[in-house]
Amino acid sequence: MSLSVELKDLEVLTTNAKQIQDDVLKEILTLNTNTEYLQRFLHGSSDKELFKKNVPVVSYGDVKPYIERVANGEPSDVISGGPVTRFVQSTGTSGGIHKIFPVNDKYIEKLGYLVDVSSLITSKHFNDNVAEKGKKMAFLYNRLESKTPSGLPVSSSFTSYFMSDYFKNRPSKCNSEYTSPDQVILCPDNNQSIYCHLLCGLSQRGKVVGVSATFAHALVKALNALQIYWKELSSNIRSGHVSEWITDINCRNSVSAILGGPDPELADLVERECSNNSWEGIITRLWPKAKFIECIVTGQMAQYIPTLEFYSNKLPIVSMIYGSSESIFGVNVDPLSKPQDVSYTFLPNISYFEFLPVDHEEDMNNIVDLVDVKLGCYYETVVTSYFGLHRYLVGDILQVTGFYNNTPQFRFVRRKNTVLTVNSETKTEEDILKGIARATLVLESSSNSMLMGFTCYADISTFPGHYVFYWELKAKDVNDVVELDEKVMAECCYALEESFDALYKRLRSKEGSVGALEIRVVQQGTFDSLMEYFISKGGSSAQYKTPMCINSSEALAVLEDKVLARFYSEKSPPLN
Ligand code: AMP
Repeated sequence: MSLSVELKDLEVLTTNAKQIQDDVLKEILTLNTNTEYLQRFLHGSSDKELFKKNVPVVSYGDVKPYIERVANGEPSDVISGGPVTRFVQSTGTSGGIHKIFPVNDKYIEKLGYLVDVSSLITSKHFNDNVAEKGKKMAFLYNRLESKTPSGLPVSSSFTSYFMSDYFKNRPSKCNSEYTSPDQVILCPDNNQSIYCHLLCGLSQRGKVVGVSATFAHALVKALNALQIYWKELSSNIRSGHVSEWITDINCRNSVSAILGGPDPELADLVERECSNNSWEGIITRLWPKAKFIECIVTGQMAQYIPTLEFYSNKLPIVSMIYGSSESIFGVNVDPLSKPQDVSYTFLPNISYFEFLPVDHEEDMNNIVDLVDVKLGCYYETVVTSYFGLHRYLVGDILQVTGFYNNTPQFRFVRRKNTVLTVNSETKTEEDILKGIARATLVLESSSNSMLMGFTCYADISTFPGHYVFYWELKAKDVNDVVELDEKVMAECCYALEESFDALYKRLRSKEGSVGALEIRVVQQGTFDSLMEYFISKGGSSAQYKTPMCINSSEALAVLEDKVLARFYSEKSPPLN
């Protein structure tokens, strides 16, 4: 199927999801049935029923040996019928383990397709064709690729996309859809590229209709960089000269060309706005034509919504795409939906999707096809890709919220295994996010601070064990310092505990087998250090998501080094 994009194609795809999914499976099986991996189960057949009966549902550990053999130089057909030309690497996990997945150019085409569909949808909804009427200030980053022992490139999915001919030759490039030239996106030094993105965005401020990044975290990081660099940025704009530390020559030359010459008027404006003590609404003040913020704010990125709303005066936040290193999944066809209501419509031409009902995991006979999921039910996605993953459990839990034509739409609920537990109680990502939402309400209404990042772990080194949350705080007003009020912080601990379920409360208060929840406030910049730690292990900064729970002792050590103060809940939450 051709991947060229028009919005009406989305109607055709979603209307014919069943047939398209069957065709995709047929195509995948025909391509892969003679691989060493599938041969064992299918003996050369590409029959759907046989596939469902014989091919096991697997996790990473099951396919890792096959993937590693190809990475080490054995032929692609150990696992993939098509040529494996590169690997994409997933980002940080709670345990700090990175997985690699075999792909080829077709994966990049599919990712490009998702990006194109999502741009068409946002253009339509904001009635403002970015290509004709304005630009997006997009904080997109690249990273140096590493190599497998056999010399194949390994990178994040977005790095593989930015490095590809698909990106280089994309049609929207002729319209300069981004304020930054490609050289800034491709610069492998993320500090230089973040600075240059800001410089390009500021010097074209009148053209910016949207501010975007892949994940919310990357956008908050860009705003932090603006706080650090605004004086230098405005001095560059005043002189028309890019700072000497921007040494990446392609980046430097392309940004100098955009800067043109000195612009003292713009420099004054940047100084005036940024020296204001309050940074509330700074995005709309600096980029007055911006109509939307675009980045993923579902799942663990939901923690950044209050910060983005603060900086943007509550511009609509559109969360458009859902995908992973294993496969692209879907797109949000209703960009104006509130972040908490966002659902993703799966694209049936990308991979073959099946769904394992949550709570029935032990019986694989319960697995259903994409078009057979039931409204309101919870599932874990099982993906069969073109590149060697067959009935692979992705580990994301989704809930069916509706159908677009005949294709289901899903709300992202949580990662499957990220739980916090010290006893028999368990906390999912969703539970933790609910608690954080309550606690930040207390923090923001009773102090001068906002939460910039958090993660947590279950400390069972003492008895009773207890939950530890690491919080990085920042003053709302730029020139203020964070005031740590013991009473307010204890109330934040309490708000978290109060949001937890009855079992937690019983263990905590009646039985005393869970200890008082603790918040450890860490120095500013700690979560950047944590990101650097994960990136040093092979992650990418654009794709990075702070793990909601951590169980790697090395990652915990990064945090422990920076603890400023500890606070505990002063009383147990009432039993429900
Ligand atoms: P990676 O393989 O490193 O790109 O990470 C993929 C994972 O990121 C997915 O399996 C999800 O858990 C998470 N993710 C990606 N897109 C979204 C989204 N739109 N909303 C929530 N979580 C997402």
